[in-house]
Amino acid sequence: MKFLTDMHTHTSFSPDAENRAEDMLAMAQKKGLAFYGISDHFEFDCDILRMPKEEVLGYLSLNEEEYFHALRHLQEDYEGVMNVAVGAEIGYTEDAKIRGRYELICEKYHPDFVINSVHGVAGMDFAFQTFEEDKRTVYGAYLALVRKSLDVSYPYDVVGHLGYIARYVPFEDKSFAGFENDIDDILTAIIQKGKILEVNTAVKGLKQATLPNEDILKRYFALGGRMVSLGSDAHNTQRIAEGRERAVQVLKEIGFTHVTVPFKGEYIKAEL
Ligand SMILES: [Zn+2]
Ligand SMILES: [Zn+2]
Repeated sequence: MKFLTDMHTHTSFSPDAENRAEDMLAMAQKKGLAFYGISDHFEFDCDILRMPKEEVLGYLSLNEEEYFHALRHLQEDYEGVMNVAVGAEIGYTEDAKIRGRYELICEKYHPDFVINSVHGVAGMDFAFQTFEEDKRTVYGAYLALVRKSLDVSYPYDVVGHLGYIARYVPFEDKSFAGFENDIDDILTAIIQKGKILEVNTAVKGLKQATLPNEDILKRYFALGGRMVSLGSDAHNTQRIAEGRERAVQVLKEIGFTHVTVPFKGEYIKAEL
């Protein structure tokens, strides 16, 4: 079956998102989405001292109890109208205590899907970092972190925006050329673990249609990877499903025939 999906979006439960869940859902319905995934940020190790004040307040205000309570109600409201998945985007942390807390949250609230993302190191998002080391060091460390993130003990379905760091580095060539071995290790692990590789369309100024870029998607396909999900990473109503057509084009040219929608433990296939 062919239907529209967007399985990575945020609501004002995330400190960096602009619109309330009610408004995001209304717009998603208007845009004709059949499956819509909400995946607000779980980033309990952010370095509050190095973040802008309003973001600190935002992060402190995310309360898992309130979040799941509010969104489960909205999910019910949309029953029979649009398949709303109440998920979580969990930012990988090296802090084992915080990872333990994520595990408890997953056990208690059973998110409909979980995106496993790497946003930064030592609690600070790459968006706020200055990169003084060379590309080999910076990208090498990033990819090592991504590889580690795949082994977390909490359940997850999707590997979020592989290559995210490229949005923020000062290097002229932001590609991962020269890091083929690290990329292969990551892609092979994703395939072996039966996880979904996200195709994220929030490319923020990068000269590519998707995160990960086309080269990485081609390699994933060549290695046998077939499970991809589409996500706009919308932080406001305008961006819902944005960049979808271009991404679909890229995927089709590589040979992908469908996207995989993680929904309440089931992996549903939607034709591209
Ligand atoms: Zn993210
Ligand atoms: Zn996100």
